Order: sequence, then C-alpha cells, then structure tokens
Amino acid sequence: MVSGYYFDISAFVILSCLTYAFFIQRLNKVEDNTIVFASLFCGILSSGMSIIYYLHPLNRFELTIAYYIASWMLTAISIALLILFMYFNRAYNIGAFKLVVSVGLPLALDIVFILLAAFGVSPVFRTLAYSCDMLLFITGINILIFYKKNGPTERTFMLCIMLTLTMAATITELIIPELIVQRFAISLLLAEVFFSLKDPEEQFDADTGLLGLETFKDEMRRRYYYMRRHGGKVSMVLLMIHGSEAFLRLLGEVNELKLRQSVISEIKRVANGASVFKLKQGIYAILTEKGSREEMEVIQEALISRFESTFGNDAYEMELPYSTCLIDLPEMAPDGNALMDLIHVAVREGRLYGKSVVDLESLDLSTEEYMRQVDEKVRHAVEDGNLEVYYQPIYSLKEKRFVSAEALLRLHDGDKFIPPDVFITVAENNGSIVEIDDYVIQQVCRMISGRNISELGLKYIELNLSVSDMLQDDISGKLTGFAEMYHVHPSQINLEITETSDDTFTGVVEANVMKLSQLGFNFSLDDFGTGYSSLSRIIMMPFDIIKLDKTIVQSPFVMDTEQGRRNAMTLLESSADMIQQIGAETVAEGVETAEQLKEMERLGVDFIQGYYFARPMPESDFINAVRKMNRK
Ligand code: C2E
Ligand code: CA
Ligand code: CA
Repeated sequence: MVSGYYFDISAFVILSCLTYAFFIQRLNKVEDNTIVFASLFCGILSSGMSIIYYLHPLNRFELTIAYYIASWMLTAISIALLILFMYFNRAYNIGAFKLVVSVGLPLALDIVFILLAAFGVSPVFRTLAYSCDMLLFITGINILIFYKKNGPTERTFMLCIMLTLTMAATITELIIPELIVQRFAISLLLAEVFFSLKDPEEQFDADTGLLGLETFKDEMRRRYYYMRRHGGKVSMVLLMIHGSEAFLRLLGEVNELKLRQSVISEIKRVANGASVFKLKQGIYAILTEKGSREEMEVIQEALISRFESTFGNDAYEMELPYSTCLIDLPEMAPDGNALMDLIHVAVREGRLYGKSVVDLESLDLSTEEYMRQVDEKVRHAVEDGNLEVYYQPIYSLKEKRFVSAEALLRLHDGDKFIPPDVFITVAENNGSIVEIDDYVIQQVCRMISGRNISELGLKYIELNLSVSDMLQDDISGKLTGFAEMYHVHPSQINLEITETSDDTFTGVVEANVMKLSQLGFNFSLDDFGTGYSSLSRIIMMPFDIIKLDKTIVQSPFVMDTEQGRRNAMTLLESSADMIQQIGAETVAEGVETAEQLKEMERLGVDFIQGYYFARPMPESDFINAVRKMNRK
C-alpha cells in the first residue's frame, strides 16, 4: 500500500523540478510553454493532494473525491498535452481532423469515466478510464512511428520508449490499484519531453521570440516529407537585412535594440499571420501553412513596400538595406540541404548587390562564386594585411602643380587586385566598411605625419568615407583622435562623401558633417552628376570642393552621336557653372586626354584628377611623382 505513495511523491518531485524549469524558461522569455504551464498546474494540484493523503489519509468523502479527481486529472491532461505537443511540434503534425477523432474523443470519455469512478458510480468506470488512457498512448506511439522520418530519430525513439513505459505503468496500476505508478511514469515522460524537446534556444530565438533555425529545419523536414508523399509545392519568402553588424556600432546598444524590436514587430505585422523564422541575424524566412506562390508574392510585395520607407524614430530614423527572395520548392531545392545552400546563395547575392528582389533563377553561379570569395576576403582584409592605400595626385590648373591627392584603397588578391568598385560595395553591404575605412584613415594620417606633405607642396589628402562611416555617432571623436595621435592638423584631411540616395544628408550624417567641419576638417562632395545630387540640400552643406564624376567629364567626348555629345557637354557646362555659383571649388575626375584637359580649363575647373597627369600609385611612387612634378 505505502510503496505506491512513494511513486506518487516522486511524481511530485519531478513535477516540482519541471515547475522550476518553467520559471527558468519564463525568465528566458520563451513564449510557448503550454506543456510546462500545464504540468505546473497538474503537479501542484495532484501532488499536493498526494502528500496530504499520504501524511493523513483523507476520510471525509469530499476530500477523497477531490484527491481522486486532482490526481487522475493529471493523467488525462498530461496525455492530452503530450499529443497536443506533437501536434504543434510540426514534425509530427497529424492534421486537425485526426487529432479530434483520435485524441479529443478518448480524452473526453476519459474525463467522464474518471468523474463517474470518483463519485463511486461503478468500479467499471475505473477500468474504462484506464482503457482510454491506453488508447491515447497507442495513438501517440502510432503518430511517432508514422512520422518518425520527420523528427530527429533519437527524439522519436525516446518518446516511443517513454510512452510504452507509461502504458505498462497504467496496466500495472489497473491490476494492482495500490501501486500508484501511472502518474510517476507520466511525470517522467513529461520531464523527458521537457528536457529533450523544449530546449528554448532550439525552438525560439532568444532575442526576438521568433521561431529559430532548428525549428525551421524541422518544419522543412516535414514539408519535404509531405511533398514527397503527396506531391504539391511550397513557396516561401526570404527577407534579408544587410549589414546588421554595423547597426550596433552606428546606433549604440540601446537604439539598436529598439530598432531591432520595431523591425521585428513590423515584419510580423506585414507577414500577417504567416510563420516568421529567424535563420540568422538579419535573415528571416516567412512561410504560411498553405505556402502558395500567390500568398507569398503578396507578402513579398508588402515587405518591399514597408522596407522602402524608414524605421526608427527621429533620433535615428533610417532606411535599412534589404533584399527579398522568393523560393519555390521543390523546384529550386530538392531537399533540405539544397535549400540551406540556396538560402546562403540568396543572402550573399542580396548582400552584394543590395537589390530589393533577388532573382535566384537568373543567377550566374560563376560570378556568384567569385563574389562569395570577395566577401570572404573583404571580411578578413584588415587582419590579413591585404589592403594597401594608393594615392592619386590632384593637379591645380591655377598653380600648375600637384596640390593634393586622393587616397584610394586597393585589395590584394595574390598578384592581382580586386577592384574597389567591387569590394567597397561588398564591404558596405557586409558591414566591414567601417573597419576598413578606419584602416585607411590611420594609414593616411601616418603618411601625412611621416612625410610632412606640406614640404612636398601638398595641402591635404582626400579620403573617401562611406555613408555608414558618417552614420557613426562617434565619427568626429574617432577622426580627431586619429589626427591627434599622428599630429595631423584636421585641415590636412579632406573628407569625400557621396550622396548615394535622397536622404543621405539628413539627421546623423548632416550633424556629423557640421561637427567635423567646425573641428577644421574639409569636405568634398564626390561623384557629382551621377544622378543623386540634390542641389537645394548641397547648398546647405559645408562642402569646400565638389568633384565632377568621371562619367560626366568624359561623356562629351565619348558619346556615340553628335547630339549625345552636345547634350553631355551642356550638362557638364551647367554643372561646372552651378558649382562655381555655390562658391565651391571644382575637381574634374577622369581627365585622360589633352583635349579633355583643355575643355576643363575653358570651363573654369580648379583641379584635375585623372590618368592624364597621374594614376593612383603606391605611397613611395606617389611621393616621387609629386616631388618630380612640383620641383619643375
Ligand atoms: P571615386 O571616389 O570616384 O575615385 C575615383 C576613381 O576614379 C578611382 O577609382 C580612380 O582610380 C579613378 N580614376 C581617376 N582618374 C581616372 C581617369 O583618368 N580615368 C579613369 N577611367 N578612372 C580614373 P578606384 O581607385 O577604382 O576607386 C573606385 C571607387 O572606390 C572610388 O571612386 C571610391 O568610391 C571607392 N573607394 C576607393 N577607396 C576607398 C576607400 O578607402 N574608402 C571608401 N569608402 N571608398 C573607396
Ligand atoms: Ca572619391
Ligand atoms: Ca568620384
């Protein structure tokens, strides 16, 4: 008689442990804890009753009834929960209809029988209740075996064993009523489920509360299994937010967290009930139960239109660089592994070109492979020592000598270079640009201080900054820090920035330009004439120099038709004219021929940068070239 209660008390201990685990999990902000929540309820209720009953057997009729109901309820509810768990754990999804028939019905009967038995209607109901329990266990095992390929093998195996064990315990208790072992076995089963299946990190992403990578893989396993058995197709949308590593540095921790939260809640809103999986920082997969292509196209459209506008608030309002991609299964990837590879390809592709829609079908995989290599190299460029700063002298038409130079970065790849147009874009998209530009700034400061460039006749060195550099809160502190460290005066550095979109010069960027300008740094507006420049805003900014882009400089000479050349010349003339009216100095980039040079003189351009005078070159060659030219 007494031995049965030991098991009952053990059940209490196990369930208390689960309760404890529940709180730990709660603290980790995991949302889905139905199982644990229910075991908490059952555990306290039934085990509490067991202890009371053990210490002081309940004689009064109501109390005895309460004991039976409380402890037996545990049995019914726990079994139901287990099966519900399997239902929601999509690997074992049995479909709603089967769920009702095979679980709902026996469960309802079970509860009715328990109540009838507790009220002492007839001992037959006790036997019937146990039979219902067993029916439920059989259903559970059946589901596990049928869908065993969908879940991890060990998991399915463990659950099968535990269910069989619980069934054995139920039979034992049915035959020897004094031996209360069923609840003990169920507690063990719950604990097993909890510790092996409810690993919070596996199921949910701790940061965002979204479904995690492992859950995504489980889900896809199920989908592939279904497609193989029943045919059909599934589409999903991939959303990639690029350079998320950089946001942390740009915004600081608090703002970055806020931004991230608002982005997640927007994604959820736009996904409109579809499941959102976080596969990696900044990479999300969106999937609906049906997964039709039409549904997915709607979601993709909605995401694009949301991401075309800004996130955040006044303090750090910004557009996020993003890409979306539609994946059709099984055409594009025949199995789970191929799918993960494909996702990598899409992410790289999106990151490299920043396109809002990545079209996987049009991908040329050889450039794809090349870009992947570039991405790898760029990430490690600084630590691998593969970067070198080249300098291109800039000629003053008035003083007839070199008066400055532009620092242009080179990335060594064996005995070749990877062109900056390629790797700078990659670096901007993968976030390593900030680190790379820090390197350039230091190299330039070192060059200026080591060579005493004013003796060479150089007034300043021009340095390219990306917009992400200018978005950093501490960019002015950083630049002054480097300048002080190398004893360089801010006026010896000219910062080139490119207006890359309509709102480059708002908020943080503008504030940083103003601050740096007050500290004595000079500014150039790079690539004027490439289509983004908005005059009204430029006038408000303290640009000392505006650089005519080489396309606008060269097109009057290289266009195919006479008409084209004339139009291009008009554009060039009016641009040069506008710059003079603003009161800034002009650099013409890309001057390659004597003819082009003559034309620039006629237009009143101040400085020439181009192959006609000098190409970008390594530091020592550069020093020699300047010396030679400026001695004349
Ligand atoms: P950019 O700032 O417009 O730099 C001028 C580009 O024009 C350089 O290309 C230069 O080599 C090229 N160039 C100069 N004269 C001529 C000419 O007469 N003819 C022709 N065809 N080209 C000429 P490069 O060095 O390939 O750099 C490409 C771009 O990469 C730069 O364009 C700049 O936007 C970016 N970049 C280079 N270095 C850095 C850097 O350190 N940081 C950042 N953020 N961007 C950089
Ligand atoms: Ca430049
Ligand atoms: Ca330029």
